Amino acid sequence: MPNLLDDSNWLEFEKNHVWHPYAPLEGALPPYPVKNAQGVHLTLEDGRQLIDGMSSWWSVIHGYNHPVINAAAKAQLDEMSHVMFGGLTHRPAAELAARLITLTPEPLTRVFFCDSGSVSVEVAIKIAIQYWHSKGQPGKQRMLTIRRGYHGDTCGAMAVCDPETGMHHLFAEALPKHLFAEAPTVTKDAEWRDEDIADFRNLVKQNHSEIAAVILEPLVQGAGGMRFYAPEYLRQVRSLCDSYDVLLIADEIATGFGRTGTLFACEQAEIVPDIMCLGKAITGGYMSLAATLTTSEISQAISRNAPKAFMHGPTFMANPLACATANASIDLLLDSPWQERIARMSETFFEHLQPCQDWGGVADVRIKGGIGVLELEQPVDMPSITMRFVDKGVWVRPFGKLVYVMPPYIINDEELNSLLTAMTEAVAEELCI
Ligand SMILES: *Cc1c(COP(=O)(O)O)cnc(C)c1O
Repeated sequence: MPNLLDDSNWLEFEKNHVWHPYAPLEGALPPYPVKNAQGVHLTLEDGRQLIDGMSSWWSVIHGYNHPVINAAAKAQLDEMSHVMFGGLTHRPAAELAARLITLTPEPLTRVFFCDSGSVSVEVAIKIAIQYWHSKGQPGKQRMLTIRRGYHGDTCGAMAVCDPETGMHHLFAEALPKHLFAEAPTVTKDAEWRDEDIADFRNLVKQNHSEIAAVILEPLVQGAGGMRFYAPEYLRQVRSLCDSYDVLLIADEIATGFGRTGTLFACEQAEIVPDIMCLGKAITGGYMSLAATLTTSEISQAISRNAPKAFMHGPTFMANPLACATANASIDLLLDSPWQERIARMSETFFEHLQPCQDWGGVADVRIKGGIGVLELEQPVDMPSITMRFVDKGVWVRPFGKLVYVMPPYIINDEELNSLLTAMTEAVAEELCI
């Protein structure tokens, strides 16, 4: 069949028929059409080039169209792009498991591959529940989490997202009711306030016989508000989980693979979770892939007790093409000076963003690793600020009061300076400064 749409009408057709994330289908702002992408640049259909400040939502850490990952994908394509994982296996999956086990803390040695971050969270929750079932404690089925979190959009994952930003009231009858502790205070340095853990401590004490696991995003609450909190909070959570027989799930889907300055955010608190979710940057943004890691203790309990299997198995589990791109992306990361790149990004964020702290209309400036955040006092006018960013040649996608960037690690000084200059200018114009 020839193309059904031509250059003059495909965009209009798309706008009327295709959903975009968290947007209405009728009457939404039209999306910008991207023709191709290279390095840190997105090229629009009309030829304009934008410096990407978002890494396509944390994932494209090596930039677009990377020759090494391209080559790995092409080589795998010639072998096979997919084969079912039920009863069959392949080298790329084994290689990826070996890499993940080597990189993550030692007790995490068992890997479940799935196709998106949300599904890896579903898997983590199910592993925790099935573990307690295997241990003769089927009453432990609830999750305890902290407010302002984000863990994905499927129903199980959504049920542990912040109840307000996750719009739980819309789905009230469809979602399990979990326990929510007050979110820890946002900190810039590692300052610690003991009262931060009080609500969490009470909830574990009172409900531990029903709680299968605690789930949280370590150190950085991403899509729930770009909130950074103290490592001491994580240490306290770990010790409460140990005292009350509750598993700890670390959702490192956003923080994993270097973004916060360590390979995984848990390292900064020197804690080891029982279950870890990875996604987003795992393939360098090439393919949809995620993984849930756990300990041999947990995998043995599940495997040795009825039904003697973990009850989950996506069609595209451990997709070979995705695993091959992940292997290439991880090797590229480890062979690169990523710590220096993240440290330099932090310094440059500081130079450009810290002065905005004094602007009227700016509530807070936060920088952690390769994440730079301006929190405004009022929600931004999306159409207006988006147009300003595009006019200035950058791609930045705020949400609510948050204007933030997390560029590909390979961004050079000149590109980073241009990105941040455009970011602060656009914000200044919006705030009439
Ligand atoms: C993005 C994200 C998810 C969901 O991942 P998807 O691939 O979008 O399903 C879960 N947890 C965290 C912390 C995330 O940032």
